[in-house]
Amino acid sequence: MQYDHILIRYGEMSLKGKNKKYFVSKLFSNVQSKLKDYPHVKITKNHDRMYILLNGEQPEPIIELCKEIFGIQSMSLAIKVDNTEEAIKEAALYALTNPTNVQTFKISTKRVYKDFPIRSQEMNRILGGHLLTNTEKYTVDVHHPDLEINVEIRREGTFITSEKIKGAGGLPVGTTGKSLLLLSGGIDSPVAGYLTMKRGVELEAIHFHSPPYTSERAKQKVLDLAKKLTRYGRTVRVHIVPFTNLQQTLFRQIPEEYGMTLMRRLMMRISEQVAEKEGILSLTTGESLGQVASQTMESMNTINEVTNYPILRPLVAMDKVDIIDISKRIDTYDISIRPYEDCCTVFVPSQPKTKPNRKKVNELEKRLDFGSEYEETLNNIETIEFKHDKAADEEEFADLF
Ligand code: ATP
Ligand code: MG
Repeated sequence: MQYDHILIRYGEMSLKGKNKKYFVSKLFSNVQSKLKDYPHVKITKNHDRMYILLNGEQPEPIIELCKEIFGIQSMSLAIKVDNTEEAIKEAALYALTNPTNVQTFKISTKRVYKDFPIRSQEMNRILGGHLLTNTEKYTVDVHHPDLEINVEIRREGTFITSEKIKGAGGLPVGTTGKSLLLLSGGIDSPVAGYLTMKRGVELEAIHFHSPPYTSERAKQKVLDLAKKLTRYGRTVRVHIVPFTNLQQTLFRQIPEEYGMTLMRRLMMRISEQVAEKEGILSLTTGESLGQVASQTMESMNTINEVTNYPILRPLVAMDKVDIIDISKRIDTYDISIRPYEDCCTVFVPSQPKTKPNRKKVNELEKRLDFGSEYEETLNNIETIEFKHDKAADEEEFADLF
């Protein structure tokens, strides 16, 4: 006997009433796409569970992949048996004796299929008795068992499951719309992207690139980060904006200390235009209040003025150490700390205004004249699309050595 299924429990979406069907089918297609390299597994769903029939595949790597899928609350290995008392007893015994470090257990039966002749309570007693008679070291503890063995009797068969494995939580990616992530090569913005995806948001990314001040390596780093994010969201398109001409013109025409504020406003305007063109309804940034000069309340107030798109800032109240912890966990940290030049740091003045005000900034901005450069920049945006695949992960891993 061995575990032949992985049972998937849904997260918060079970609360979503009418939308539930939509959420479940999105999750289903996200799981299918994640497991596309396992052609033998068979995935089925009903309104409160999903089952992966392993068909001989090892469960561990599949569980690892499923841990990256938002919308999964928890998973368990499961054995499916026929709806007979004998078969259920045998499977329950396997579920109890298979793990190590278990001394106390509890059986919880749920009889969904009411034509099955033995009621849930009765089944708990029968199975408990069977396990105690056929083993020596175990005792029953109904309040704090080391192991709860769940027995779910359904029309199509009985599923016996044990240990719960924590899933990623959140909502299935693609269920709450799309956002355009301002992706730098730093630590924060990939984490912001990850957290936004966790709320079911599909991402596209935009990166401002300033060759020759920023190198191909700097661009590659951003592309590698985007590729990493496909683990959680299948496809991520990256729009690379050639930013050099606009930046140079800007810094020629205005006092240096206001350069950063005006440059950020420019980035917001361009991002909004790209979002609008792509039918995306919000922007996401890795800003965290007070972290650097552009992230003071005054800067945010002044920079935000140029767009009325919602800006999602999932890191706004987080400490850097906590952001770093997440970046390590999602495997973006090592990419983010590769040395690189950022378009913002290359041009940033030694003494940027940390408390700009809207009035002054608007006056300066009126004097700016980009000629045809603004339109040219928009016309020269390069878009690259990444899809999640195993080969991409491995390739990028090899790069690190
Ligand atoms: P990060 O670690 O994400 O680079 P940061 O702490 O360095 O953030 P800033 O440089 O002030 O902070 O950038 C704030 C946010 O602005 C970033 O999180 C990102 O969303 C956006 N941003 C900065 N530089 C770029 C860029 N070159 N292209 C696209 N977005 C950028
Ligand atoms: Mg940065």
